Amino acid sequence: MSNKKVYLKAGKEESLKRFHPWVFSGAISRMEGEPEEGEIVDVYTSKKEFIACGHYQIGSIAVRVLSFVQEEINHEFWKRRLTVALDLRRSLGLVDNPLNNTYRLVHGEGDNLPGLIIDIYDRTAVMQAHSAGMHVYRMEIAEALSEVMQGMVENIYYKSETTLPFKADLGPENGFIKGGSPENIAMEYGLKFHVDWLKGQKTGFFVDQRENRHLLERYAKGRNVLNMFCYTGGFSFYAMRGEANLVHSVDSSAKAIDLTNKNVELNFPNDNRHQAFAEDAFKFLDRMGDQYDLIILDPPAFAKHRDALRNALRGYSKLNAKAFEKIKPGGILFTFSCSQVVDKKDFRNAVFTAAAQSGRSVRILHQLTQPGDHPVNIYHPEGEYLKGLVLYVE
Ligand code: SAH
Repeated sequence: MSNKKVYLKAGKEESLKRFHPWVFSGAISRMEGEPEEGEIVDVYTSKKEFIACGHYQIGSIAVRVLSFVQEEINHEFWKRRLTVALDLRRSLGLVDNPLNNTYRLVHGEGDNLPGLIIDIYDRTAVMQAHSAGMHVYRMEIAEALSEVMQGMVENIYYKSETTLPFKADLGPENGFIKGGSPENIAMEYGLKFHVDWLKGQKTGFFVDQRENRHLLERYAKGRNVLNMFCYTGGFSFYAMRGEANLVHSVDSSAKAIDLTNKNVELNFPNDNRHQAFAEDAFKFLDRMGDQYDLIILDPPAFAKHRDALRNALRGYSKLNAKAFEKIKPGGILFTFSCSQVVDKKDFRNAVFTAAAQSGRSVRILHQLTQPGDHPVNIYHPEGEYLKGLVLYVE
C-alpha cells in the first residue's frame, strides 16, 4: 500500500474494471503525495474506492498496473509473479530442455508485469525496462529473479539504454547486475548462435520468431532461400538444417551480417551453400534475379505510432510486391509484420494489395503469430504484435 494516491475522474475506472493494465493521464482528476516517476501509486475511483496499484510515470500512460488488489509490492510480490512466469514457460516445454535454452521469461503486460522484459539465454538473463517503474525497481527484481531461477541463471545483464523514456533522466544503463560471463552462445531447437547482449538489438536476439523459424525448416528442402532482414541469421540456419539448396541472407547492417556469418559457421562450418550481403532490402530486391523459391521478409516495425499507420501499410505492400514479382512459380513466401499498431487484418490487406498487383495466384498456408512465451494478456489485446503469413505463390 502506498501513500501516493491517484484519483480518477468519474467513469474513468471502466477499463480497469475489465483489468486493462494502463491508466491514461487524461483519466486522472488529482494526485496525492506528489508521486515521482517510477514510484508505486494506489489508484482510486472518483468514489474513493481502491481499484489498482502500479508504477507512476509522466506521459500518456500514467500508471502501469501491477495489481488489482491492495497489496505490498515487495520481494514476495516479484517472486510470485516471476514464479508464475516460469511455470508458464515450463508448461510450454521451454525450461530444462536440452535442445533449447533460449526463451522469454517475462513479456511485460503478457505476464502482468507491464514495462518489464526478461529473456533467458542459457545461464544469462537479459533484463530490459521499458518503464520508469521497472527501472527504479531493477535491483529488487534482479534479486527475486536470482531466487526463482536458482541453479538455472548465473548472470543478469541489464540493458535499458535505448528502451527507457529519455526525458525521464533516469540514468539508464547497460551492464551486469549479477555475474558477468563472457560466454554468449545460446541454443534454440538444437541450433547454436552468438548473442550480442552488449550491443545487439532488442535483448540480443529475436526470440519471438523461434516457432516460425522452426516451421520454415520444414519447407526448406531443395529450395533457394532468400532471408531478407536476416539480423543474426535465425531463419538462415534453420533453412540450412532443412537441407536448402542455397541460402542468401541480407541485412543493411554490416554488424548483423558479421553475426549471421558467425552463426552459420558455428552450425555449418565450411558450408558453401550460404552467402550474406550487407545491403538495403529494396536495392537487393530490385537487382536480384528470379532464382528464389523460398523468401522470408521480416522487416523492422514500419510503424511505431498510430499516425504512421498508412505509410507503414504502403511500405508492407511495396515490399511484398517485390517478392511476388520475382519469386519462382511454386515458391513459398514467409512474410511478417512486428508493428504493434498494424493489426492482423491491416497486414493481410497490405499483402493482398501486393498479391493482386502481381496478378499471381496466391494461397495462405499458415497464419503466424508470436509464440507462447510472448503471451497476450486477454485484457490487453494491444500486446499482440507479431503477424505472419506463409503463402504459396503459383
Ligand atoms: N529476421 C530476424 C529479425 C529481423 S529484425 C531474426 O529472425 O532474428 C529487422 C532487421 O532489419 C534488422 O537487423 C535491421 O538491421 C534490418 N533492416 C532495417 N532496415 C533495413 C533495410 N532497409 N534493408 C535491409 N535490412 C534492414
